[in-house]
Amino acid sequence: MFFAGIAFRYRELDFDAGPFLADDALPAKWPIDYYALRGCYDEMERRLGVARAGDDDPWQPPSAPAPMPPHDYDDRGTLIANAGARIGLSPFATPLAINSRSFDGRPACTRCSTCTERACPSGAKGDAIQGILNRAKTTVTIRTGARALRLIGGRNHRVDAVEWIDVAAARRTTTRADNFILAANAVQTARLLLVSTEPWAPEGIGNSSGLVGAGLSFKLSCYLSGRTDYLTESTFGGPHSTVAFSDYYLHPDVPGLLGGTIYQANPVLGTDTSSLRLHVLAGDQPMERNRVRLVRARDEFGMPRVMMDYRTHPRDAERLRFLAERAADILRTAGVHRIRFEPTEFHRGSRHLHGTCRAGDDPHDSVTDRNGRLHDIDNVHVVDGSVLPFAGGVNPVLTIQANALRIARELIGRDRPEATPSIESPNLLMPTY
Ligand SMILES: Cc1cc2nc3c(=O)[nH]c(=O)nc-3n(C[C@H](O)[C@H](O)[C@H](O)COP(=O)(O)OP(=O)(O)OC[C@H]3O[C@@H](n4cnc5c(N)ncnc54)[C@H](O)[C@@H]3O)c2cc1C
Repeated sequence: MFFAGIAFRYRELDFDAGPFLADDALPAKWPIDYYALRGCYDEMERRLGVARAGDDDPWQPPSAPAPMPPHDYDDRGTLIANAGARIGLSPFATPLAINSRSFDGRPACTRCSTCTERACPSGAKGDAIQGILNRAKTTVTIRTGARALRLIGGRNHRVDAVEWIDVAAARRTTTRADNFILAANAVQTARLLLVSTEPWAPEGIGNSSGLVGAGLSFKLSCYLSGRTDYLTESTFGGPHSTVAFSDYYLHPDVPGLLGGTIYQANPVLGTDTSSLRLHVLAGDQPMERNRVRLVRARDEFGMPRVMMDYRTHPRDAERLRFLAERAADILRTAGVHRIRFEPTEFHRGSRHLHGTCRAGDDPHDSVTDRNGRLHDIDNVHVVDGSVLPFAGGVNPVLTIQANALRIARELIGRDRPEATPSIESPNLLMPTY
């Protein structure tokens, strides 16, 4: 998982209280509230090593103290923060899973390179290997280069085995197990369930609701950038983002009230590195018609290919336009004369994939229960971004990981009643600073 390091928590909304979504959207309310996740967020922040501000962010949910103080704004971040403050916004340090000082045996970030799409050469950026796998107390076997092809059902509406292929050796194997945890992302997990048909699951395992694959969400996004005379030096390297704004997360001027986040997103290598650049991000409405589905064409392993159907809702398009105009206000105030609009073409697919195995209490409008267990089957759980009914207007990694941790604890509690599921790991001490 090469992520830019941005580590927000989900900002819970009271969906009963507002006209946030269009009438034809799928339910966006989660089956759990923020407090069910809070301890797991705290633990994941410590495991990854998150540096963030205390309460500068108006939307920061309650939490344990941050493991590390935030990063200082870089040159671009300072210009953007000052401009935002001048027009009445509340800039805050982008929460980052990147060490602002040495932490947990790993060094502080020296801004030696760019963080997006790259592994960190110094180890200052947190990741799942350092934060989770290297700390495992039991032996974990990972088969790299293996692709799960389908789940094989048994009797009694359970899954007995997974058929997978060692891609390099082109060798197929079937592995039996008592429990199956799917974490292949919102497109591939849905595909795996849809291809796995049984006489008792003709539309795919776990799909009695017809919703496996539906509610595909990509996040609405775009970038705005431009040169300013105030950026005297074209520095490069270090965190992709050091300042963010959540002032428009909910705002009376946004269509449906529901806005999103605006944050600094430094130009990537090979582009115009002398620009200020902002990313606009908002959660898209979960629509039943936006979905992952199978087509007749087959891939190199003889499995059906996937097609993603996605049409931007007109209300979502209006929301994105509103946020882009606000981002342009910030850039203009920072001295940018010619603002470049960079569409992301999110409607063709994105880095943020959610919603295709939506979690909920009602088996008629969701695929899994609150703990990621398929409603239809006892021994298959989903723990990736596909279970989020709505991912909010922030970057999702920390939420996906906190939720996966919560589900893992639930599973341990269920299968080993003698083991007390603990959220706070005793060997992880809160640092002082
Ligand atoms: C360049 C980039 C930068 C990003 N930066 C950020 C950021 O700063 N902050 C943030 O919050 N989010 C960021 N994201 C988004 C974030 O990485 C994703 O939202 C997140 O990784 C999704 O987690 P997931 O568990 O749902 O799926 P994934 O992380 O995609 O994990 C799925 C895994 O399953 C494997 N897989 C798929 N199909 C199969 C199969 N059939 N058999 C076996 N294995 C399979 C895949 O290879 C992959 O390893 C970024 C994404 C990208 C691409």
